[in-house]
Amino acid sequence: MNEQLEALLRTIIHPETEHNIVDSGFVDRADMGEDGSIAITLRFQKARDPFAQRIKQRVEQLIATTYPDKRSIVIIREAAPKPRRQENVTTTTEITNIIAIASGKGGVGKSTVTANLAVALRQRGYNVGILDADIYGPSQTKMFGVEGYIPEAERDEEGHDFIIPAQSLGITIMSIGFFIKPTDALMWRGGMAVNALHQLIHQTRWGKLDYLLVDLPPGTGDIHLSIINELKISGAVIVSTPQQVAVADVVRGVEMFRHEQVNIPVLGVVENMAWFTPEELPDNRYYIFGKGGAKRYAEEAGIELLGQVPIIQSIMEGSDNGSPATGVDMRVEEFYQSIAEKVVEKLPAEC
Ligand code: ADP
Repeated sequence: MNEQLEALLRTIIHPETEHNIVDSGFVDRADMGEDGSIAITLRFQKARDPFAQRIKQRVEQLIATTYPDKRSIVIIREAAPKPRRQENVTTTTEITNIIAIASGKGGVGKSTVTANLAVALRQRGYNVGILDADIYGPSQTKMFGVEGYIPEAERDEEGHDFIIPAQSLGITIMSIGFFIKPTDALMWRGGMAVNALHQLIHQTRWGKLDYLLVDLPPGTGDIHLSIINELKISGAVIVSTPQQVAVADVVRGVEMFRHEQVNIPVLGVVENMAWFTPEELPDNRYYIFGKGGAKRYAEEAGIELLGQVPIIQSIMEGSDNGSPATGVDMRVEEFYQSIAEKVVEKLPAEC
């Protein structure tokens, strides 16, 4: 089955099974020929599935709008479906703690905090993984220097497919960035991204992990809700700059986790870019983005301030060089070790 077509067809949900038509086993064939022509065969379980024609039309429309220049044919066959994925199979069973890293807005350092916290936890001897779910700017691949990695798939004896994650600095990494180009991010809104993440969560061969850090997209939305539903998240860390800390986006993020139906403990706030210290004036702190905002907000909201990280050039360089500054620059390491210590205290590895 052509992967692009398969991903596209996953966005169509069968109203009765409430699952997408690929995983429900209704797509028998989805091929793109060398001449660019597209052939799709749908196969329905019931002799006269009441939704068959409607689904066929939706497939035709979707193909026509996505590939306006290609010839396509969609055929319906009637036969028992072959479920392609067994529900309830997941590779996350050996993960002790899953921590969501969230922020109200992009660019505040959420991914940087994820990467450095992962390294700090690894330095403490824990088995650590990262799921980079930020479809709008997946950056963990760059931060760990594994941009060119192509995840391979493996099938076990029972026919379950697994995806092999990347490894860097002793950390297991799976990123949506392995599968999409940054320029394609907009196309990946909604159902397609949610389905792709579903696969990454449940099919990545995570193995035994003490901590899996999930780098969420900024803000609150469908992807957050879907990840919250799919993963048993033990706690959330909110990242903010001093300036952004009490603004509506951050507050909304905290409320999302605290919502009674979600009920995920907020472990605390990390205030990033808290101040700047020039090399030549090591005792001076310049509060470029304001001072004390995170502390005040944390107190008001009843959340712990997990730590403050200043603006340091090596942090930015580490992100660009594929080697997070924790582990390279002792000053940065101290900040992140103190944050890691608090996280471990709140979520012990052996619980
Ligand atoms: P987000 O994930 O919130 O979009 P990033 O983690 O990608 O943000 O960070 C945005 C930019 O800021 C990156 O270039 C990163 O290297 C830089 N950056 C983040 N935190 C710091 C810091 N404390 N000091 C210096 N640069 C930082």
